[in-house]
Amino acid sequence: MASLDSKIPKGPLSNKWTNHKSHINLVSPANKRLIDIIVVGTGLAGASASATLAELGYNVKSFCFQDSPRRAHSIAAQGGINAAKNYQGDGDSTYRLFYDTIKGGDYRSREANVHRLAEVSTNIIDQCVAQGVPFARDYGGLLDNRSFGGVLVSRTFYAKGQTGQQLLLGAYSAMNRQIGRGKIKMYNRHEMMDLVLVDGKARGIIARNLVTGKVERHGAHAVVVASGGYGNVFFLSTNAMGSNVSAGWKIHQKGAHFANPCFTQIHPTCIPVSGDHQSKLTLMSESLRNDGRIWVPKNIDDVKAIRDGKLSPTQLKEEDRDYYLERRYPAFGNLVPRDVASRAAKERCDAGYGVNATGEAVYLDFAAAIIRYGKEQAHVKGLDENDAVLVKKLGQGVVRSKYGNLFQMYEKIVDQNPYETPMMIYPAVHYTMGGVWVDYNLMTSIPGCYAIGEANFSDHGANRLGASALMQGLADGYFVLPYTIGDYLADDIRTGSIATHTPEFDAAEKAVVDKINLFLNSKGEHSVDYYHKKLGKIMWDKCGMSRNAEGLKEAMADIKALREDFYKNVNVPGTDSEFNEQLAKAGRVADFLELGELFAKDALDRTESCGGHFREESQTPEGEAMRDDENFTFVSAWEYKGEPADAVLCKEELKYEEIEVKTRSYK
Ligand SMILES: Cc1cc2nc3c(=O)[nH]c(=O)nc-3n(C[C@H](O)[C@H](O)[C@H](O)COP(=O)(O)OP(=O)(O)OC[C@H]3O[C@@H](n4cnc5c(N)ncnc54)[C@H](O)[C@@H]3O)c2cc1C
Repeated sequence: MASLDSKIPKGPLSNKWTNHKSHINLVSPANKRLIDIIVVGTGLAGASASATLAELGYNVKSFCFQDSPRRAHSIAAQGGINAAKNYQGDGDSTYRLFYDTIKGGDYRSREANVHRLAEVSTNIIDQCVAQGVPFARDYGGLLDNRSFGGVLVSRTFYAKGQTGQQLLLGAYSAMNRQIGRGKIKMYNRHEMMDLVLVDGKARGIIARNLVTGKVERHGAHAVVVASGGYGNVFFLSTNAMGSNVSAGWKIHQKGAHFANPCFTQIHPTCIPVSGDHQSKLTLMSESLRNDGRIWVPKNIDDVKAIRDGKLSPTQLKEEDRDYYLERRYPAFGNLVPRDVASRAAKERCDAGYGVNATGEAVYLDFAAAIIRYGKEQAHVKGLDENDAVLVKKLGQGVVRSKYGNLFQMYEKIVDQNPYETPMMIYPAVHYTMGGVWVDYNLMTSIPGCYAIGEANFSDHGANRLGASALMQGLADGYFVLPYTIGDYLADDIRTGSIATHTPEFDAAEKAVVDKINLFLNSKGEHSVDYYHKKLGKIMWDKCGMSRNAEGLKEAMADIKALREDFYKNVNVPGTDSEFNEQLAKAGRVADFLELGELFAKDALDRTESCGGHFREESQTPEGEAMRDDENFTFVSAWEYKGEPADAVLCKEELKYEEIEVKTRSYK
């Protein structure tokens, strides 16, 4: 089994960020002009990296499949971004953010990376404020914070329910300045189809112009993959419809290890599935758990009456409600981490207490918060705190100012007014902690190929804490990669520009064109979505919120069979010389059909439960996840060997020097 240890930093933690060898080799400003870098993806990670690399003087080529970087999935991020600023004076610190993140990830992330993340978290906020990101401010004009799950401080900065969009507009403005200066060349509506290796190093990509269908060659001294997460392997998820694994999978096929593919986050507060017609699920931000209380009826008769429409949830007395998170986890209550909250919802619904027609929904209720805020407002304004109508009106106003756009979104989708009746929510696939394996410098196991943002596996272990994805993406893009990449590029200042009329580019382009023709010539009977949906069902049923050995073995066999059928029976209409969304999708689903099998294999191999990975065979008598630190304190980094079932496991042992490894408890 290959060891990854040589790529991991050693020595005292406190020196790792400032003194690590990543800073030994630097590229001079003059030499940066001689170096080209390709960035695949312009979500928050890719846009921030592109802008910063160009600012430093490198020549950057950025690619995205949307018509503008502004449409990246990152704009969906609602709730906020963490930083250890301690503006609330509630005892936050770099160490505390570091500690919370390691604990939240169930002790399955690399200590050094997480410490660096906590250190640079504060710089991100300063950077974004300087760019004009309109973070929420408190009465005195200082930046405001709210709390997210798994922490006992308020460290989440936010811009209403549109934090990702506002942050992306900031990064995109910085990119645009560099596009204007000619330092970034932007390739919208271009999809990376493959990585080109020359002498074992990443030297460029094959891209396809999605509007004309033209296949193009692009050379560079380094390639950065910032292509986002792969939650859409489940078909239904909160991810943008276009989110996919293909860029990450292509580099995996070329030699980049893929780490912890089974570590997926199922978010507890999503709008429940309403039927087979759906192709997308909607998140209700975790920020709502600051004020919303989660419950189901205590008595099964009340559940039945609610489902039959004979009882409204607002009619149910306090003593007949089971606020199960507050009951089970008194210390963190409704703000337990996502994996814990999701499993608890599933437990109640599996026991028959789900409140909608499918039995897969619990309530998220704001009535108590509305009264609490209303009374406070009445007090502040010197009005009658016992006037129930007034208190409700004032309270609803406060809730509207905090979460108005989320409430509006809920009402539009569900056609119920959440100010008057509790929301219904259920867990859904949301984020992938697994991804391309990277070393401390964010380089994959292919020299010169980097992965940043959600595309890599780096910082969140087996469970990501809320508001930490934006922090990691922007840390990677603004503050880590632009500096660590110099260590590698310092050897390239005499290389000259990378030629693309070479046998390596010829071979890579031919493979891409052959695959496109294969799809177009396969005149099968099923659409691409038919296969994607079937894959999603296998994934949800057998690799979803809880997993067991038997189901995972079945999943591997089922996915393999589905993949074989896909190549025989898929039908892709249209041609390769026009905008052909089905053709683009065929390539992405083909990669999901391989990733899905590796995902199941990884979940089968890890016989412990940790974070979002819950193996039914490994649980405490109370039904909590039970880790096996003796045998599984490592990152599973899989090496590609053709069929996903043949992938070879490389282990990165995780060593904790600064944090005592304990059983995670939120009680
Ligand atoms: C509904 C929702 C709400 C969320 N809210 C929060 C929150 O409040 N706080 C938080 O911290 N996190 C949140 N997250 C998570 C967070 O939004 C993501 O993890 C993060 O935005 C990912 O950023 P990224 O730059 O890595 O990838 P993305 O934003 O997904 O960008 C990927 C980029 O890669 C490009 N791309 C992909 N493949 C190719 C290819 N083959 N060729 C060319 N280009 C390609 C795309 O065009 C795009 O530009 C939320 C997620 C969801 C789904």
